[in-house]
Amino acid sequence: MGSTGHNEEGQVVFGASEASRLAEELRASFISCKTRSYEWRRSQLKNLLKVAEYHEQEIIEALRSDLSKPEFESYVQEISMVKNSCKLALKELKHWMKPEKVKTSLTTFPSSAEIVSEPFGVILVISAWNYPFLLSLDPVIGAIAAGNAVVLKPSEIAPATSKLLAKLIGEYLDTSSIRVVEGAVKETSALLEQKWDKICYTGNARVGRIVMTAAAKHLTPVLLELGGKSPVVVDSSINLQVSTRRIIAGKWGCNNGQACVSPDYIITTKDFAPKLVDALKHELESFYGKSPLESKDLSRIVNSNHFARLKELLDDERVSGKIVHGGEVDETKLRISPTIMLDVPQDSLVMSEEIFGPLLPIITVDKLEESFDIISSGTKPLAAYLFSNDKKLKELFVMTVSAGGVVINDTTIHLAVHTLPFGGVGESGMGAYHGKFSFDAFSHKKAVVYRSFVGDAAVRYPPYTKGKLRVLKALLSGSLLGIIGVLLGWSKG
Ligand code: NAD
Repeated sequence: MGSTGHNEEGQVVFGASEASRLAEELRASFISCKTRSYEWRRSQLKNLLKVAEYHEQEIIEALRSDLSKPEFESYVQEISMVKNSCKLALKELKHWMKPEKVKTSLTTFPSSAEIVSEPFGVILVISAWNYPFLLSLDPVIGAIAAGNAVVLKPSEIAPATSKLLAKLIGEYLDTSSIRVVEGAVKETSALLEQKWDKICYTGNARVGRIVMTAAAKHLTPVLLELGGKSPVVVDSSINLQVSTRRIIAGKWGCNNGQACVSPDYIITTKDFAPKLVDALKHELESFYGKSPLESKDLSRIVNSNHFARLKELLDDERVSGKIVHGGEVDETKLRISPTIMLDVPQDSLVMSEEIFGPLLPIITVDKLEESFDIISSGTKPLAAYLFSNDKKLKELFVMTVSAGGVVINDTTIHLAVHTLPFGGVGESGMGAYHGKFSFDAFSHKKAVVYRSFVGDAAVRYPPYTKGKLRVLKALLSGSLLGIIGVLLGWSKG
């Protein structure tokens, strides 16, 4: 889909001129004001909801083909999330679109003021492969709700979902204002050369820098949804079974660790680590059986490049002797079993980059408080988790650990709370979306002041005199007594 041309062999091509034409077409559509109306936004959101409702099985099949994603995860973590976002936007849209009345100050008296949410214009959404349905459509929902035209570029690493999105969006949505461009680096680079009004990019920080550099050329704002090494700090004062289950659900139960908010590594005390490892092993076996490589409840590694990357982390001689559970691989099926590594050195390969897969290293410390220094010595993660019953420790964690989001006594679930913003900080990204935050992320907050022709004060106009300055000083200080004083001639200012 999109404004594509053909080469001499008849293959579809999408280069700079096609990207430029597409941007022009969508800009013209935006300028025509059609995407601004409540009715248009509503109809597009309703149609997006239909995509998720009527094509559930096709979506599940595409995700199975791209990632062997279990149906359960496809439904709970992708399809239902998209549906919920659509439903919320449909329910709240009128309310979100309403200008927000705000107070004015004495300085502008008499006046009224409001904040008007205005669509940016044409949005470029570049999405990632790990949750290819959700991460493509969730930002699109926000962009449409805010009244923008949108171009979506799904990830080529999840080709079945990318193709399905192009087909369904072409069938269900208004293609004069919403388009899908399929493709990889060449196509994305062609799109990035164009002027957009906001770019939403989900993926790794290396490409995030490429996106931001391209955006800078046109002074285009960016929403960067990146990743990082999300730590889990585990205290000994916990319900061990509930904690291990929740760690497993966030790690291997989220696309086999290929999720931006999956626990990346654990920090616990030397004394408690053996207990925690035993509990994790026990629960892992009860969830995925004795042969996890055969389990239908675990996604596979997305492709051979990522498999090779993870294999390298696994084979690093500094950690290969530290594997206390798992470590099995099946290269032909691109499967790696849930793997736990105990006491890994902090300067090992597995600790130097985001793992994004089924390996879980555990770092041990003498005192749990040391975990704060370990976390803050790295870049700011997308999520940070603490399992503890200690009130002081929880307070300290929330106060001192800088991360996109924090969850106490669970993992990943903050993503499902639509009243919370979802986004990173520092190296894990900038900007946030979800729920009303999605609407805000794709709206310019326009400041509007209304005045009438009454109450025109000569004091603001030249010729500037000492008397006028005294009145203005009193006005700007906001002190009513001061103003009265000046008006009555009591004050010399
Ligand atoms: P990816 O390989 O699918 O890349 C993301 C997008 O960038 C794709 O659409 C791709 O075509 C495009 N791209 C790749 N190279 C490019 C280049 N050189 N120039 C222009 N565009 C290019 O996904 P990925 O980066 O492997 O995704 C995994 C990363 O994304 C992890 O770091 C993960 O934590 C992060 N992530 C973050 C979130 C979030 O919501 N914060 C969600 C999912 C993944």
